[in-house]
Amino acid sequence: MANIDSEIDKLECKIYSNTDENMKKLADKILEGELIIFPTETVYGIGANIFDEKAINEIFSIKNRPKNNPLIVHCLGYYDSKPLTDLNKKDDYWFKLLADNFWPGPLTIVVKASKILPVNVNCNSGYVAIRSPNHKSIRSIIQYSQTPIAAPSANMSGKVSSTCLDHVKKYFESYKVNIINDDDYISIYGIESTVIKLEDSEISILRHGFITEFDLKLFCNKFDNIKLVDKLNLINNISPGQINSHYCPNKPLYILNLISYPDDMILNEKKEEICNVTDNYLKNSILIDFNSICFEYKDKFLGYVDLSSNGDYKEAMFNLYNVFHQLNDINCDKILIYNFGNIENIYTKSIWDKINRASKDSIFIPINFL
Ligand code: AMP
Ligand code: MG
Repeated sequence: MANIDSEIDKLECKIYSNTDENMKKLADKILEGELIIFPTETVYGIGANIFDEKAINEIFSIKNRPKNNPLIVHCLGYYDSKPLTDLNKKDDYWFKLLADNFWPGPLTIVVKASKILPVNVNCNSGYVAIRSPNHKSIRSIIQYSQTPIAAPSANMSGKVSSTCLDHVKKYFESYKVNIINDDDYISIYGIESTVIKLEDSEISILRHGFITEFDLKLFCNKFDNIKLVDKLNLINNISPGQINSHYCPNKPLYILNLISYPDDMILNEKKEEICNVTDNYLKNSILIDFNSICFEYKDKFLGYVDLSSNGDYKEAMFNLYNVFHQLNDINCDKILIYNFGNIENIYTKSIWDKINRASKDSIFIPINFL
């Protein structure tokens, strides 16, 4: 039945358990032009056969994805990705080494695309983004279908990515898609893959993710002629998906900075008034904390949740989208997230890249008035 607002068929989704027989069935469906939603170790993906123009276009429409934001192609590894790339000898050598080191895993590598790559997959950019996911069901489907699968994250464009079956069901249950239920699998890292570009023996990070700058520096330091460069500010190197606001919960999210004012006569005179205004501002908000830093103020808020009460960054990454999804269902004015971005850790950029894009603004509250 055609939907009045769009061309997309709005039918019931179908859910498949993770049996080998079902993976074969889904490989056939991919080849027949249907879409599948599958778990990965990062976030869930919504995929189609890269050579099926109609199915690829359907991914853009179903997600309401901007037409200039290319899709990541999922392959088994170096050998089945190679035909999609057009690399000189040196870069091909680095590409293989990167694949040997990081694949299967949460690293997406953007390289020059070969002519066989359909232009609606890479938005005619001349480059292709390739990743080898480390999850058995999608790997079986690539194997059985013998085709690379283009897949962005399984969420509506700009909204929070999905890390479990419930999240994808909320977004897609009324669409004609095939969803894999892998024993209610929860993505193990909780955030997206890191996207890097490889060109002329240089690597640049286009999107921060689970593989860190530190991991990539360690990789480069093992060899003489490859280096990690910072090209994020050069317009041609920006990954188009990175310029928009992204990963947003359905209420405004603000980054909460706690500041401390020196004693001030005028402020002290007005203390009661300022405390009341502050209390009113906080009482309809939910606070997302880290490392129990704001625990003592928790009663000031309508609700309180900690991404990791003992300050474990990996745990915080795992919990971030899950907490955003839970808060989508809670009635409150706004969400505040404590600014723990100054706490040095190799994962700081990975998680704060997401929080900064998801948030509207920063707010500053003097602790004197809490
Ligand atoms: P998602 O759609 O959430 O899976 O994110 C995919 C990311 O990879 C987006 O930020 C895209 O812009 C980026 N990406 C995919 N293909 C390319 C490409 N050919 N060149 C640069 N960035 C890409
Ligand atoms: Mg996404």
